[in-house]
Amino acid sequence: MEEAILLAREAEKLGEVPIGCVITKDGAIVGRGYNRRETGKNALAHAELTAIDEACRTLGGWRLWQCRLYVTLEPCPMCTGAIINARIPVVVYGAPDPKAGSMGSVINLTDLPYNHRPEIISGVLEAPCAHLLTGFFRSLRARKKEEKAARRQAADGDTVTGSPSAEVPSYIDKSTISDYDRELTE
Ligand SMILES: [Zn+2]
Repeated sequence: MEEAILLAREAEKLGEVPIGCVITKDGAIVGRGYNRRETGKNALAHAELTAIDEACRTLGGWRLWQCRLYVTLEPCPMCTGAIINARIPVVVYGAPDPKAGSMGSVINLTDLPYNHRPEIISGVLEAPCAHLLTGFFRSLRARKKEEKAARRQAADGDTVTGSPSAEVPSYIDKSTISDYDRELTE
């Protein structure tokens, strides 16, 4: 999980919501991934899917039945589906995701009678995994605030600035801001 946290930090460096994932087999890492939805301009670029893709290449097959998947945030429905399809037997996640988590928070898809039901271990290094997200959204809000103030100042000074260079990316909308953020704004 510590390695997954390091990968989440890589995502954060790119301005992505920090989520990281590793897949191991016999204690060795065979797949790594972090969220690259914005930089990749791809709705599928979730940490888990990237890690599953890499693990399949590394192991030369789609059945990851001897593997464990570690991810910093509870998987969404898409990634839970991929985990089921890849026959991953054990999933370890850090922080719950009240908005999209599909291993217990919104729904537990693994309770449904699919042909494969992974074992779930939740809450592993939950605090550091959650802090990554709260820290990310906190600094994002601080940036937004600064930009607002700068725009107001520019308007007051009657200077034309055009669009601010450090504009908060348009992808930061309600749909990507989890309860980690909402907790802080309320
Ligand atoms: Zn996902």
